[in-house]
Amino acid sequence: MAKDKKLVEAITSMDVDFAQWYTDVVKKAELIDYSSVKGCMVIKPAGYAIWENIQKELDFRFKETGVENVYMPMFIPESLLEKEDHVEGFAPEVAWVTYGGLEPLQERLCVRPTSETLFCDFYSREIQSYRDLPKLYNQWCSVVRWEKTTRPFLRSREFLWQEGHTAHATAEEAEERTEMMLNLYADFCEEVLAMPVIRGQKTDKEKFAGAEATYTIEALMHDGKALQSGTSHNFGSGFAKAFEIQYSDKENKLQYVHQTSWGLTTRLIGAIIMVHGDDNGLVLPPRIAPVQVMIVPVQQQKEGVLEKAYELKNVLSNYKVKVDDSDKSPGWKFSESEMRGIPVRVEIGPRDIAENQAVLVRRDTHEKMTVSLDELNEKVGELLNTIQSDMLARARAHRDAHTYEAVDMDSFVKTVEEKPGFVKAMWCGSQECEDKIKELTGATSRCMPFKQDHLSDTCVCCGKPAVKMVYWGRAY
Ligand code: ZN
Repeated sequence: MAKDKKLVEAITSMDVDFAQWYTDVVKKAELIDYSSVKGCMVIKPAGYAIWENIQKELDFRFKETGVENVYMPMFIPESLLEKEDHVEGFAPEVAWVTYGGLEPLQERLCVRPTSETLFCDFYSREIQSYRDLPKLYNQWCSVVRWEKTTRPFLRSREFLWQEGHTAHATAEEAEERTEMMLNLYADFCEEVLAMPVIRGQKTDKEKFAGAEATYTIEALMHDGKALQSGTSHNFGSGFAKAFEIQYSDKENKLQYVHQTSWGLTTRLIGAIIMVHGDDNGLVLPPRIAPVQVMIVPVQQQKEGVLEKAYELKNVLSNYKVKVDDSDKSPGWKFSESEMRGIPVRVEIGPRDIAENQAVLVRRDTHEKMTVSLDELNEKVGELLNTIQSDMLARARAHRDAHTYEAVDMDSFVKTVEEKPGFVKAMWCGSQECEDKIKELTGATSRCMPFKQDHLSDTCVCCGKPAVKMVYWGRAY
């Protein structure tokens, strides 16, 4: 048993040190390894399989709305980057290629931090007529941002993402697409990741460089810090003017297109860890878990036990099931499947077999139940659904219990200091107040939610008439 305990002991308790807990989980659940390139990570099979499931589900949802996948080069010529101001926002974290083989390049190439400029350059040639619109393209790729401080999944120098880039004939269509993708992200987070999100708009200060409007989904992590989990931008025709992306309309008049972009990254894996994890490790929602059920044979050396375990795997063929037939002790296997966040564990030993039953254990609540093998398939299915919806309800309850209101700065400062979470407060719309709130509390404006509450008539900071209710919080 001493050895079994060690696996669990190696995790720092989340209440003692949340950051260390997070690092322990990503390592012990074997999601990543560090690499020889500082700030970059090796995503191991258990981590990559989560990303593959995210990809699969999102890609399906994208395509249902008419989106098609393409692939752009990873290099951007410097001259192309300079066409639009938005590169200034990325300049401090851009990596450059200056040599091709042994020869210095005539023009240096940036390793894409995001691909607006490449898509715009491409669209300027691709789009001529109203018949060419809309263009609804997406690419799955990695991007590079030379971050100074990095953390696995949350901030790394190279990360995986998808970036959608669309071009439309009218401003209305672009706005409709921007909102559609934001809602698609939000539904995905809630339905698949069991992660509730606040849907809203970024303030001008926090919006994406070059965007007319940035919409965001914001989630609350277990430690009370916010995490921006996906964004969708309406560019209007700003990029179109810089890159001369024009089409001739039905009257044969030249018009600028209206564009959007939207992205979601491997950061989301960090969010899953920090929303659902506990002191025993990762807790994965069944709908995203690469392994949904782990069958652990007990006393597997006894005759018929392993055979029964594999028989049950076949019975449960509707789900993603594995049998842990390694020669580790059952206790070790239990801890390991908990560490990896596998939603349901099935324990089967000689006594269970004799009684035609198995023990099911929920990862999220540790609750155990004995079920007849005749009902196993049905019970596991029910249990996976229950775990999925309970996890969303629990995360929502946690978020709601850590969402506060402030009507003056004293209570605002006190709340942020003493009760980590979201703070809802009214705002006059000036960046001066936004800056001051950040200076006094360390909290940034997360979003102006689409669902507005009216808490008071005046700005929490300056007392002038308020225009919006804003969610504030310290963030990752
Ligand atoms: Zn104000």
